[in-house]
Amino acid sequence: MKAFRRFAREERAARLVDLPIPEPAESEVLLKVSHCGICGSDLHAWLNHKGYESVLPEVTFGHELSGTVEKVGGKANEWKVGDQAVMIALQTPHDRDDRYCRDNLPQLSSRRRVQGLHLDGGMAEYVCVDVEFLIPVPDGLPLRLAALTEPLSVAEHCIGNRADIEDGSNVVVSGPGIIGLLCAISARSRGANVLLSGTERDEPTRLRAARKIGFETLIVGPGKVNLDEQVLHYFPQGADALVEASGAVPALSESWKSVRPDGIVTAVALYSRAIDIDLTQFLRKQIDLRTSYASSKDDYLRAFDLLLSQKVDSGVLTEEYSLKDTEQGFIDSEQLKVTKVLLDCSLGE
Ligand SMILES: [Zn+2]
Repeated sequence: MKAFRRFAREERAARLVDLPIPEPAESEVLLKVSHCGICGSDLHAWLNHKGYESVLPEVTFGHELSGTVEKVGGKANEWKVGDQAVMIALQTPHDRDDRYCRDNLPQLSSRRRVQGLHLDGGMAEYVCVDVEFLIPVPDGLPLRLAALTEPLSVAEHCIGNRADIEDGSNVVVSGPGIIGLLCAISARSRGANVLLSGTERDEPTRLRAARKIGFETLIVGPGKVNLDEQVLHYFPQGADALVEASGAVPALSESWKSVRPDGIVTAVALYSRAIDIDLTQFLRKQIDLRTSYASSKDDYLRAFDLLLSQKVDSGVLTEEYSLKDTEQGFIDSEQLKVTKVLLDCSLGE
């Protein structure tokens, strides 16, 4: 089978290779991969960025995948050939003695690992997945769309569990990458009024995509009016909530300016360096500064509902590439030519 695989702990050291189709272990199934997304963390790993040292030097990338069961391991008999599934990307084997398993936050356990970074993932024609981390795709949800379940679950965790967003909330989402866009969609599905902000660099692809699906967009950066002044034009009291999805340091450090007193700032991005924050400014407005990390199974199930409700326009948000063109998909993602690459992993015959 073909697989897009890293071969060394170096920048851009990955290529399409031929591998034997893997054999599922007792507790695993073999999935024929339908679609697999290229994620920001895949890009970081591919570019060998700081903070990604735990990624194996040799590994098949891909953690946002959907597929069809092709073969079932000896103890995986709740699944049968032909069943459709998505994979939970961040995997913590259940343990009742682990408080994060009991609290339904297994993604915070120190035992977590990411399939596609710490073991072989789904940028391949086939992948073996432990049934503990498989979720059946609901009827009526196409596998292409189901490949968005993982990133959408991250947005659902942020918006649904962390950011206190409800019907009528005035929300700013900073950063129109796929997580920002999906956070905006998730917030809007809850009845929030949402503004999306980005930079000039985001304008040709991501902000345009945001407007196509009905969002008001703001451009920030050198020579532009400050975000808070632009926000006050729409929300004269300031936003109830700001979701920081850009990973840009000033976007987080200045976020207090756009939020009303007693509002909430939730960071869902990863930052490449330590941030100087004037906490007193947050304190004088009693702004709650929160973070949101990854997602758990319940968030995947809510993501299914949102996908089924047709509120996620994958035609605008995604661009399909063949598995053969995975490297080009990484390059185009890096250059922001596309909002989200979905790899079609079924090469046929
Ligand atoms: Zn991802």
